[in-house]
Amino acid sequence: MFVRNYSYSVVFFFLKMDENNNSSIVTNGNSSEATIIDDKASSVIKERPQSSVEQSLERGLANGATFTPSNPNRYSRSKTVGGVPSSKGKTHSRAFTVRIEQPVESVQIDTRSYLRDVGVIDETNATWEWSRSVQSFGCSNENCTSKSQGKQAKYESICFEVPKRFCSTKCLKECWTKMKEQQTFRKNSTNLQNKDEVYNALNGEPGYMKDQTSDTEWEVVAYTKDHTPTNEDVDHLLKVNIMSNTGATASRISKMVLPFPEMPPPRQVIYAQAQHHVTNDRVRVVTYNLLAAIYATQTMFPYCPMWALSWNFRKDMILRELMGYDADVLCMQEVQADHFENFLYPQLNQLGYEGLYKQKTREAFGPAGRVDGCATFYKRSKFQLRVNNVIEFNEAALKMAKENRFTGDVPLEGANDTSVKRLLRDNVAQICVLEMLGSYNVPVQICISNVHIYWDPQYADVKLWQAHILIKELQNFITSNDIPLILMGDFNSSPDSSVYNLLAHASVSRLHEDVQKDTLGILPPMGKLTHNLALQSVCC
Ligand SMILES: [Zn+2]
Repeated sequence: MFVRNYSYSVVFFFLKMDENNNSSIVTNGNSSEATIIDDKASSVIKERPQSSVEQSLERGLANGATFTPSNPNRYSRSKTVGGVPSSKGKTHSRAFTVRIEQPVESVQIDTRSYLRDVGVIDETNATWEWSRSVQSFGCSNENCTSKSQGKQAKYESICFEVPKRFCSTKCLKECWTKMKEQQTFRKNSTNLQNKDEVYNALNGEPGYMKDQTSDTEWEVVAYTKDHTPTNEDVDHLLKVNIMSNTGATASRISKMVLPFPEMPPPRQVIYAQAQHHVTNDRVRVVTYNLLAAIYATQTMFPYCPMWALSWNFRKDMILRELMGYDADVLCMQEVQADHFENFLYPQLNQLGYEGLYKQKTREAFGPAGRVDGCATFYKRSKFQLRVNNVIEFNEAALKMAKENRFTGDVPLEGANDTSVKRLLRDNVAQICVLEMLGSYNVPVQICISNVHIYWDPQYADVKLWQAHILIKELQNFITSNDIPLILMGDFNSSPDSSVYNLLAHASVSRLHEDVQKDTLGILPPMGKLTHNLALQSVCC
């Protein structure tokens, strides 16, 4: 985050949180409806009307469906219990697909259901019924290492008066001595005097173990699509029965419900200055990369269980953390359009915030569906929105290509085409002006900018170009309006990068390796890689 000094005193806190420095970009084309209002030929700043929240919500609704009916094959590979009888009497097990994520205590279960010829199945076109297994499937071995992975204890040792369940013979063996001390053998079972019998019992041979999955009993617990497991559900299985309005039915059994995990240790937070009590003339700002669910994949985070990556699991904790910071201005990156619309905006709005959203451009590639962007929230009790502008870096690149301006220091034959392709990364930035509420002699305004710079370390030239475009636009905007600036974001850059040097020191060395990587000549002449904003980095 960078702060531009100004004549009146405002003390800032800095809290830089980054859940994800290394995400991939999977997006698809969707150009913004905003219009260019700046008459400068080079400008890529766009104004968005004040009612942008409503528009964002509408656009989010259009783009942010949690499931895309036009691509049903996406789920057709998942196994389905039950099926739909066709007119010929055959069962089409793939016609009605149901997918249930790993259930976790207190986390709403993510269920996706799709019926051929109908589309997405939800509460509007089907009745839902959730049941819980009467039996618990937790392993009786307290030291079981598979517990956190949700491994079911499918087998029941029936050697003793009180049967116990285990996930493996290893767990049974570990508990055998203790069970023997505390329990008596079943009367009508063997007395296990024989060595072979003990061996068989300990190795789960038939007669000593019962497959518990074959006779699971169920009790109904809910009739809604969205079900949130309770503490009572932990170690039990859940089953969902769905009956669509067309009469088709499907049923699916979940994995064992996991207990809510222990909270992670507190984050190490870097404070730019000593903590001050936030008063009316101070402003607390926070920037936070949420890690969009579209990037929170098992491929990207193979060490993390899927349930912990799910948005349903993370969203409440993210909100709780954000609430704890009590920021006056909250800049977020990697905010999915549907998450802004369905969760962040309504939740933060209730807490007294107004929110502005700018979705990534999505011109490069990727399937239609969910896309992320930047969101800026501010406290309604503290500010009034005066200006709401956005930058689409794609547009700047296309404009420069059209004007044949990719000359740089190393002009190449036919460089324009390649240059513009390299620059089309869909990144966006927000620039808004907030006016502090209260009685001041003159209006007290702050410019807030929120940016997400391209992530890929192989594209240092693109990062620098994006920073250059942003700072040039901010300079035009700030100097003509004469207001202080707080620039926040995920810059995907370290303090030795050219991006940092440009922003913090207003210059980049010709010899910097990022500049040397600009073989396509996308960067401007070195003399133009500067600005007059006197930005001060808050964290280093
Ligand atoms: Zn076990």
